[in-house]
This record gives sequence, C-alpha cells and structure tokens, in this order.
Amino acid sequence: MKKLLFCIGTRPEAIKLAPVILEARTRGFDTKVVVTGQHQDLLEPFLEWFDLKPDFRLQVLRPGQSLSELTARILNEFQPVLGSVKPDLVLTQGDTTTAFACSLAAFYEKIPVAHVEAGLRTHDRYSPFPEEMNRLLIGRLANLHFPPTEAAKENLLREGITGLLPVTGNTGVDALRITLERLPLNAGAGSHRTILMTCHRRENHGEPLERICRAVRAVLDRIPDVELVFPVHPNPNIKERVQGLLGSHPRVRLIAPLGYVEFAQAMRNSTLLLTDSGGVQEEAPYLKKPIFVLRESTERPEGVAAGVAELVGSDEERIRNTVIRALTDSTYYESFRKATSPYGDGFASRRILDAISKGDHP
Ligand code: UDP
Repeated sequence: MKKLLFCIGTRPEAIKLAPVILEARTRGFDTKVVVTGQHQDLLEPFLEWFDLKPDFRLQVLRPGQSLSELTARILNEFQPVLGSVKPDLVLTQGDTTTAFACSLAAFYEKIPVAHVEAGLRTHDRYSPFPEEMNRLLIGRLANLHFPPTEAAKENLLREGITGLLPVTGNTGVDALRITLERLPLNAGAGSHRTILMTCHRRENHGEPLERICRAVRAVLDRIPDVELVFPVHPNPNIKERVQGLLGSHPRVRLIAPLGYVEFAQAMRNSTLLLTDSGGVQEEAPYLKKPIFVLRESTERPEGVAAGVAELVGSDEERIRNTVIRALTDSTYYESFRKATSPYGDGFASRRILDAISKGDHP
C-alpha cells in the first residue's frame, strides 16, 4: 500500500488538498498530513470540516523573517518528518514557500513529488512574488504534475516537462462541491440582491482600493435593491480605508473574514462577485456567478476566455459601468452563466488518484 504525505502551509492549500486527501483515504491509501503553520488558525477549522487533522505541525513562523529564513526552517523541520513517515509520495499544492521547500526536501531524500495545480504562470518571475518562481521550481522538482486546465498543461509542455500530465480540473472546485452538498440550499439568503466582494492583494492597497470602493458605492447608490457584503481583511491598510469609504452606507455589510463554509454559502447566495482572489475566480464559475476580477492581469485567463469572468482592474468607471450593466441588463448577466466552468467539474481529486494509483510515474 502506498503512503502519501500531504504538505499544507496556507488556507488555499488546505482547501485544495482536503478533497485529494479524502479521495486517497477512500481508496485505502495511508495518508499523513503535515502543516507548516503559515496560516495555522485559519486552516485548522477548515480541516475539521473535512474530518482531517494534521499529523505533524511544524513551527516555522517568526515575526519579520526573510523568505530565506522561512525556506531554511521548513527544509530543516520537514526533513525529520520525511525520515519518520518514509512516504512513497509527497504531495504539494500550488505556489507557496511551503510547497516549494517541501518539494525540495523530498527531492533531497529522493522521494517522488506530486504537484497539484501545476502549470499556472504569469510569465513574470517577480509577479506574483515569490509564487511565480515557486511554481516554476516545483515544476522542475516534481515527478508527477497535475495541471488543472489545458492552458496550464500547455505551460508545462512549453517548459519541456513531459510524462503523465492529466488535466484534472481544480481541486478547489471539489472542495466547494463537497461543502455545498452538505449545506441546506437556501440558508442565509436575504431579500436583497447581493454583491459579494473580497479584495486584499497587495497590488490593490492604497489608491486602487479607494477607486474600487468609490465605484461600488456608486453602484449601490444607483441600484436600490442591491447590497454589498464585504469580508474585510484585518490588515489595517485595508480595514481603515474601506471603513472610511463604505462604512456609512446603509446597504453595506463590512464583516470579518468568513470561515470557508460560510463563505461558500455567501457565494451561493450572491448575485455576482467582485474579487482579486485566485481561488474565488475558480469557485464562482462553478456556481454560475458572474465574476469581476479586480486585477490588471491574471494567471487564470481561462475564465475570461470562456466568458464567465471579466477583468476590470481597479478602474473606477469601468467597475461602476460593468457592474451596473450586469445588474440591469439580464442578457449581459445571463451571458456569464452560459459556459461551463473552465476550472473543473468538482471531480479533480478522482483523476489525480487515478493517476497515482496507476503508479507508472518516473
Ligand atoms: N475564502 C474564505 N473566506 C473569506 C474569503 C475567501 O474562506 O472570507 C476562501 C475562498 O472561498 C477561496 C480562498 O478562501 O477558497 C481564497 O483565498 P485567498 O483569497 O486568501 O487566496 P488566493 O486564492 O488568492 O490564493
């Protein structure tokens, strides 16, 4: 029997690996989970929702440490875990320092690595930083690559990565499917139409965030049956500005970041989404919710190409006009709901475990 060791650093890694771990357990694999603690208190409640518990908790976080220090700590602390578990395969996800350092440590021990969500690229080595370089390097280190989309697979092929490259869909969609199946259909639905917004990327701090908030306020002033639900990141740079620009509006609900399950429910109850998050761009199309991406460029171009997402950046007029149009022109609104989600059907984990079960990787 194969022993699989899953590495989790941040909330998105927990969300996107949980369904893979569940699928592996269902198939009788011996699974172990290591959490490096990049976002420990955010991700443990999420893991509980999936009946998962970390087997190892690394203590690698130090205030103000450099990326080199963090990487070195993960390498040092993960090596003994590899020694005690002796896994047949290490699984990492995405592009964090955890995913990179754990892949490297496994390589040093000559243990094969499988990379979930392989092949996303902006082709700009410094943006996002250090994630673009992390995922490139994991691409070199891994033995098995699981691109979520055709475009991601193409990126890997262009880099000379060959072998088994099954296009799986994104496992984040699996997590959402499993979560929504467990929740009552109309829980939390209100009487207003709802814009659900998240915005916390560094590139939007400051002026861009102000433009976004002014645009949303103008939308609310124009359309009286619409409210805004905005889980606001605790970063004071964001919180204070948002409070100042939107806090006084009667149809604005500024709330603390939601747990994953509550956020999934809020997405299901929303009319449309405004976001700069990567994961949310993958989740919204599965729910057939129009999504307006508050970024100038995205490593997830598939949504825009399929017509389920639109890039609006932080351009005040563009955001205002596009969102007003989506809320007043039903043909335009419905056009976002026609295509199937380019990020998967909620069964990516099965495809991943099918490939691992075959065991014919290098
Ligand atoms: N999410 C959440 N609560 C919130 C906002 C988002 O649980 O209040 C979830 C969301 O469903 C998605 C993930 O967190 O799965 C996205 O995380 P984030 O935006 O931090 O990271 P990114 O996806 O941009 O890497």
